[in-house]
Amino acid sequence: MTDATSTGQEPVAIMESPIHVDYRFTAGLAQSRFLKGLSQGRFLGQRCPRCHKVYVPPRGSCPTDGVPTTDEVELSNQGTVTTYCVVNVPFQGQSIEIPYICAQILLDGANLAFMGLIQEIAADQVRMGMRVEAVWVPPEELGPTMASVRHFRPTGEPDADYESFKEYL
Ligand SMILES: [Zn+2]
Repeated sequence: MTDATSTGQEPVAIMESPIHVDYRFTAGLAQSRFLKGLSQGRFLGQRCPRCHKVYVPPRGSCPTDGVPTTDEVELSNQGTVTTYCVVNVPFQGQSIEIPYICAQILLDGANLAFMGLIQEIAADQVRMGMRVEAVWVPPEELGPTMASVRHFRPTGEPDADYESFKEYL
């Protein structure tokens, strides 16, 4: 046998292999509406005509009922942190100082949480149920991208009751 250790050489632990991949993503009608909303500083979702759940970002159909969600709903700028993780690991290209918080945020009126960055509060102060609001980039920087939402910050309201968001964990 001539593995790396028997030859006295160090085994390969890391190998850098730079690659470049171009993607062309077609958003579709529902997500295009959502992205257009972001470029106007608004969260646009869609409601299922059967179960009345509101999905944001919308996918164009209800995953439970399998029917199109054509009813557009504008969501609040505020929501609740359902759960979160503390990012402590530095990585290449990181633009935010660690530790920082990635949270699942349930906008008021929505039935689907999405990922958002929590700022303007110490990482160890963030908690489940915390009330937050979106902080948008300046109007001239708005675009059809989640980068239009700079981050979420605490509203200062009392925390939401666990019962109100437990089904979204
Ligand atoms: Zn439904």
